[in-house]
Amino acid sequence: MHLSEHPLISASAIQRRVDELGAEIAAHYGDEPITLIVVLKGGLPFAADLLRAIPVSDVCVEYIRARSYAGTASTGEVLITMQPEESLEGRHAIVVEDILDTGRTASAIQARILALGPLSCAVCALLDKPARREVPIEADFTGFVIENYFVVGYGLDLDERFRGLPAVFVLEEAEEPEPAFLMDDEEPPAAPESEAPFPWPEEEVAGEETPGAISPADPGSGQTGGTPSPGTASGPPPPHRARARRRRRPRPPFR
Ligand code: 5GP
Ligand code: MG
Repeated sequence: MHLSEHPLISASAIQRRVDELGAEIAAHYGDEPITLIVVLKGGLPFAADLLRAIPVSDVCVEYIRARSYAGTASTGEVLITMQPEESLEGRHAIVVEDILDTGRTASAIQARILALGPLSCAVCALLDKPARREVPIEADFTGFVIENYFVVGYGLDLDERFRGLPAVFVLEEAEEPEPAFLMDDEEPPAAPESEAPFPWPEEEVAGEETPGAISPADPGSGQTGGTPSPGTASGPPPPHRARARRRRRPRPPFR
């Protein structure tokens, strides 16, 4: 896995949208008291910026913690492991989440907060992946609607890494290595990979018969001995070359 070369959402696009969300929230609640319920850990950077973007004096902050993910796969189970300390009575709660995915976390947290008796409980999510929704919940305030990518940065992690990135990046699957180039010292062909012919032309496969063209380390060769000579083809391409994927580069829609 590696990060996309370009951010899906740039730092400046995030800051601009967070400022807009702050203004939307202030316009919606007027002078009513608000408590932001920061969903740790992923909602922390978003909540810190949002707090400063709400031009209203009576805004409190509380924390709640929920876990639902291990690696890139949802466990489907939501554990709430931390609760707000101060009373929410007479205040409007806003759950501040990094991302709405299946919706299970926000749904469980909203139910828990409502049980504490606030005037109301809204959900504010920086990101929303509606295609992944499993429980019926919509954010009242949404930063960006994105497709079904696994994203990191600006609070979002992969096993605790990448939270500090100022922008949001897509985590992409690693490209498969080119086995032919790993097995011997051949130079890569001049043509870009996307234009490389497959299957390789007959003449390039001619080296098949060359004694010693494949090193002993070659797991699939069945041949032994010899140092590979530069420029010598090492036999037919391994079958999985056909599966070599071109990198999926999502266009950065938010700049
Ligand atoms: P849900 O309960 O909605 O399925 O998931 C919510 C939580 O899952 C989020 O608070 C976040 O921690 C995690 N999550 C969901 N989608 C992503 C993603 O694309 N990237 C990362 N890093 N975390 C995600
Ligand atoms: Mg998380």
